[in-house]
Amino acid sequence: MKTQLNIDFFGAAGEVTGSKHGLSGQCLGQPFKILIDYGMHQGGRDADEKNLRHLPWDPTAIDAITLTHAHIDHSGLLPRLCAQGFKGHIYCTAATFALLKILLLDSAHIQKNDYDRAVKKKERGRYRGELPAVLYSTHDVEACLKKVKVIDYNNPTEILPGITLEFHNAGHILGSAIATLDFRLDSDNSETYRVTASGDLGMFNKPLLPNPEYIHRTDALLIEATYGDRDHKSLDETRAELTEVINKTLAHGGNIIMPAFAVGRAQEILLMLMALVKAQKVPELHVWLDSPMAVAATHLTEQYFSELDEDAQALITWYKRNPHALHLRFVADVEESKALNRIRSGAVIISASGMCEAGRILHHLKHNLPDARNAIIMTGFQAYGTLGRRIVDGQTMVRIMGEEINVKASVHTIGGLSAHAGQADLLNWLKGFQRAPQKTYIVHGETEPTQIFQKKIMSELGWLGVQVAKALQHERLLDQ
Ligand SMILES: [Zn+2]
Repeated sequence: MKTQLNIDFFGAAGEVTGSKHGLSGQCLGQPFKILIDYGMHQGGRDADEKNLRHLPWDPTAIDAITLTHAHIDHSGLLPRLCAQGFKGHIYCTAATFALLKILLLDSAHIQKNDYDRAVKKKERGRYRGELPAVLYSTHDVEACLKKVKVIDYNNPTEILPGITLEFHNAGHILGSAIATLDFRLDSDNSETYRVTASGDLGMFNKPLLPNPEYIHRTDALLIEATYGDRDHKSLDETRAELTEVINKTLAHGGNIIMPAFAVGRAQEILLMLMALVKAQKVPELHVWLDSPMAVAATHLTEQYFSELDEDAQALITWYKRNPHALHLRFVADVEESKALNRIRSGAVIISASGMCEAGRILHHLKHNLPDARNAIIMTGFQAYGTLGRRIVDGQTMVRIMGEEINVKASVHTIGGLSAHAGQADLLNWLKGFQRAPQKTYIVHGETEPTQIFQKKIMSELGWLGVQVAKALQHERLLDQ
């Protein structure tokens, strides 16, 4: 019986958002269509237009979706595809499913709020251009979540006749997975053709999550290359910088405000703070985690304790026995959050959003920026055009919630924390393959990082058949 396999790059080819790839053909004579991820395009003027564009495949003809992790740029259009008639299952890990419930509902709320706000502005004649797209409702999200089937890590599962899916820990965010798909070539023996999708890979030796699991064999590989052109600052440097800022600020009687992405980064920061107190590099700290989504993600992290890095597990166990080390408080309601504005000294406040665009971080910045004793510590990438970027770029006056605010607090950027593997980590992970895949496709990266990474793979590992995937590229992988 015939096995034939094609690949299509529908998104995250030459860019970092909108991850969606298609595998199609016949396995043991049976036709199939599988998607790997179905993410939203984010940022940039044409994101709405790309998100509204129809997939070249008929949604009702797709058999299954493999989801590597819950980030919106990998999962964010799933409710739309379900509403358009997708009838199969969405396969992901248990933690991804738990995060998906939080992130997809949040995405639907944000879309509705943005739309309502734009309509109101338009009524007052203060909105020009197209209204923002509403891609799906919370009702669509609920319907989509019903299609999820959970598969544990390292548990090969036949999802369609002759096609077996296995998830391996990618160490990127909670629940993140590298997916291997094995296609049987013959009903009589166990020979298979393997496609591996790296998904997003985490840094090696970071706080919180384990290193990405090595895969030893594959025929075709999709590898992300967000940071294919560079390495991150070392974690030791990051810890040293953090220690210095905390001690200086507390000594001067100031507060420390840390904008952080709610899922992943906020939990990594908590662990780093715990580790610094444990090592007696900083005094016992008073920490408020002030973001409903970050609080939910932190509870989930505790729930999936066994999936965390061993060092992280040991640290959390130590903290449970020494809770005074970090007087950690989860801030529930908005009133409590606003009450934090009265604290004049000694508070560490972790809040979202990570780029200071919305959420409770805004009023913390408003109240703490005008005092030179305070410190603002940026812990993640600040995109051009965001409030976070304006603060990092050294503006002395910024507009927050309609008010001009003086920036007198010191501003610091802690650069070593990233959800993505740097170049050396990516190469290290590739070295886990015993021999080069027949075909390697570089995805999830901008033009320069992907090209630099392509050359690096060929020169350092001596691999052939390495290409940078192009948008809407279609390739035959196998025909036999
Ligand atoms: Zn991601």
